[in-house]
Amino acid sequence: MQPIGSPLSDLLDRALTQISQTDSLAALEQARVQYLGKSGELTAQMKLLGGLPPEERKAFGQAVNTSKGRIEQALEERKGAVQQTAKPAGPSLDVTLPGRRRLAGRVHPITATAEAMKKILLGLGFSYDDYPDIESEYYNFDALNTPSWHPARDLHDTFYVGPGQLLRTHTTAFQARVMRASSGQTPIRAMTTGRCYRADDIDASHYPIFQQLDVFAVGRSITMADLRWTLTELAKGLFGPEAQLRFRPSYFPFTTPSAEVDVSCVVCRQQGCALCSRTGWLEVLGSGMMRPEVLRAGGLDPEKHQGFAFGIGVDRITMLRHQINDIRLLYDNEEAFLRQF
Ligand SMILES: [Zn+2]
Repeated sequence: MQPIGSPLSDLLDRALTQISQTDSLAALEQARVQYLGKSGELTAQMKLLGGLPPEERKAFGQAVNTSKGRIEQALEERKGAVQQTAKPAGPSLDVTLPGRRRLAGRVHPITATAEAMKKILLGLGFSYDDYPDIESEYYNFDALNTPSWHPARDLHDTFYVGPGQLLRTHTTAFQARVMRASSGQTPIRAMTTGRCYRADDIDASHYPIFQQLDVFAVGRSITMADLRWTLTELAKGLFGPEAQLRFRPSYFPFTTPSAEVDVSCVVCRQQGCALCSRTGWLEVLGSGMMRPEVLRAGGLDPEKHQGFAFGIGVDRITMLRHQINDIRLLYDNEEAFLRQF
């Protein structure tokens, strides 16, 4: 190898610098010709070999070859980099193309429905907060009177993400958290909404992810009449002033008495149609008076406090409001579908 500062090492430095600064394939080819071409600078060095004394020839020849190898390598590497950033050949601007309109985003129909319900309930004095999607088994089941042996757990059995941790199966899991945070103070009027998860099939009316709105109120004199009034206000706000409610006795582990609530059909006004299966009524939510076990898990004395609770499938209400017949449409995020709302 020639010492630093020799003509050969200067030439190599110059070549490598030049190559590293090229930004096109044409400039690279030009550099290749300048150094390695038939009349190139390095080729000229090679031609000097014959005029050297025999004892210097070997070392000089090796130095020229090494330089050649390094220049070739540099050319190859730079070529790869230039190709990656190179713009496609041809004209980059076609002024005859129609303009591209930037589509404005909009609120998803599920979010819009949840917001509409939240707004009505905020007006009735309920407070709102978000709660975690990953919930402890305790808050999701045990605090809601669903101990590990309870058959209702089978209906919900779901996605566990760690020991005692799962993706919440209902937003009802927020109840004990809210009651504990109140440290025994009532009245409490609280709601939350968010995604829930259950191991479920996927078809027109089932999906493993769905959104719920959960609401409860606790105080010293809360009764089922308060529940009925709150739900009536909510239904009228959502479906119009003529909306009517029907309570049917039901069972939930965390309420007693419990009721399924139907709303008068929003499409046929109780004349009977396909949406309501000719009954005039649509099943919309589950509700009831909170069980003493649930109040106790929240740190409240059931002898002194009582409360009502209800949970609504936001997806279901969204489908009813917009007469959507397949829940999958709400989660496919097809732009053509979402643009309608
Ligand atoms: Zn109907």
